[in-house]
Amino acid sequence: MNLVSKIMVFNFVSDNLGMSLVIGGFLVFIILVVIVFFTLRKQTLKNYQAMLYDDEVTELKNANYLRRNFNNIVISFDGDVSFYYINLDNFKNYNDLLGHKLSNQILIEVANRLLNAVAPYKTVYRIHSDHFVVIFPGNKVERERFSSELLLKLKEPYVISIHTMKLTASMGRYDITMTNPRFNDCLLRSELALQEAKSLGKDQMVVYSRNIKRKNSEAFTMYRFIKDALKEGDFFLEYQPIIDTKTKRIVGLESLIRIRHSHEIYFPQEIIAYAEKYHLIDEIDHYVVHESFKAFKRFEKTKYPLEFMSVNISTQEIKNLGFIEYIHEEALQNNIDPSKITVEFTETYYPEDYTREAEFINALKSHGFKVAIDDFGSGYSSMVRLSENQLDKIKIDRAFITNLSNSPTNQKIVAAIVQLSHGFELDVIAEGVENQEDYAILNSLNVKYLQGFLFHKPLSEKTCMKLFKEALTTEKK
Ligand code: C2E
Ligand code: CA
Ligand code: CA
Repeated sequence: MNLVSKIMVFNFVSDNLGMSLVIGGFLVFIILVVIVFFTLRKQTLKNYQAMLYDDEVTELKNANYLRRNFNNIVISFDGDVSFYYINLDNFKNYNDLLGHKLSNQILIEVANRLLNAVAPYKTVYRIHSDHFVVIFPGNKVERERFSSELLLKLKEPYVISIHTMKLTASMGRYDITMTNPRFNDCLLRSELALQEAKSLGKDQMVVYSRNIKRKNSEAFTMYRFIKDALKEGDFFLEYQPIIDTKTKRIVGLESLIRIRHSHEIYFPQEIIAYAEKYHLIDEIDHYVVHESFKAFKRFEKTKYPLEFMSVNISTQEIKNLGFIEYIHEEALQNNIDPSKITVEFTETYYPEDYTREAEFINALKSHGFKVAIDDFGSGYSSMVRLSENQLDKIKIDRAFITNLSNSPTNQKIVAAIVQLSHGFELDVIAEGVENQEDYAILNSLNVKYLQGFLFHKPLSEKTCMKLFKEALTTEKK
């Protein structure tokens, strides 16, 4: 073999070797990417699960977890089980006195004492702030003993940093007698018993009884009414048009919930507060999202250029990351562009929830939804939080808008809110516009969207469809 041939052979071998190395390297790279991807995915899922079900302060499981696993937990005890709703007495004072960080230490200590009491089980859950639930087995004698043990344990002094404190707790117990117990039912019964314990002077336990049921008959009636309405499909939605101030065209719809029962219509003011109080609001909010999205899809089919649909959800959802998962899934399943959905809720009152509110808004935004603060100006609206949170719209409370022309004070307030909102690049919706004079003022203030009886009342889906079709045909002419 001459030199040229040798060089050619060498080049051939080295070229192919080089190529093999490149391909091999590439394969290793791909495998590594796949491994990293799945590890990260697993980690992300794990983190997400943790966010959904773990209480970050005490490391206990939270209410979402308990709601989801309730039946299995109860069944696993295979015998008599009691549901304990525990609340510290006057915790708010300690919170104010010690600040957040130190009062969290108290909550951690409470969690540990409760865990100790239920060992070897781990059935202790933090529902929110200083509200805990314990699920524990035992017959009549055993649960009496366990109850007084719990109260005593929680009464032992708390040594937090340099402070030694004495706290007491109140407790409501529901001895589960239902054959197929539901989390909401147990929570409501034990909570009513807890309220009774508080009203009897705190630092004690009250067992749920028929007497308590009788005393709270209004609560039970409403609870049943809402539950039955959910079960029987008595809920329905109406849609109130939102118009563009300049063109007066309908550009959005707000879905509003109602109950139809024995030929009567019940409005949200009669429903929502009870639903929030008795832990039924999550089911309602899910219903609203589900039905609104389906309706939005049907509205889109008319080809009417609807910019957005607003859905109202309870402020309570800000503590419920499961809701984000739900609304995101619903948008995916219905093939809805989330930027066409505005999620409306009122601002939270409790400072300890500010961070959660911000996280909630960010999570909605990260999935592409728009976010609006409802009833702005009433209650606890804060201009600072307007700038901090990544909002899209604010809705000025109806109280300032209705009869605006007759109230110079309201005119000043509305003008100030609009100016600030524009400064933060937020779109403004004024609702409750009932007459031309108010319209003229809002128009001169450059409020972008309007909603009110002057234009449309809340309408049925059928009427909306009719309006859209009419608008489309007049446009064509
Ligand atoms: P909101 O979100 O501020 O809804 C606007 C309310 O103002 C609606 O009452 C609507 O009918 C009424 N409204 C609109 N324009 C005018 C007007 O020009 N004049 C007057 N007098 N009223 C007007 P609605 O439907 O009774 O709802 C009351 C509240 O109930 C809502 O206030 C909202 O906070 C809550 N809500 C309604 N639907 C839902 C829902 O699906 N989920 C949740 N969580 N809450 C809802
Ligand atoms: Ca609203
Ligand atoms: Ca409102």
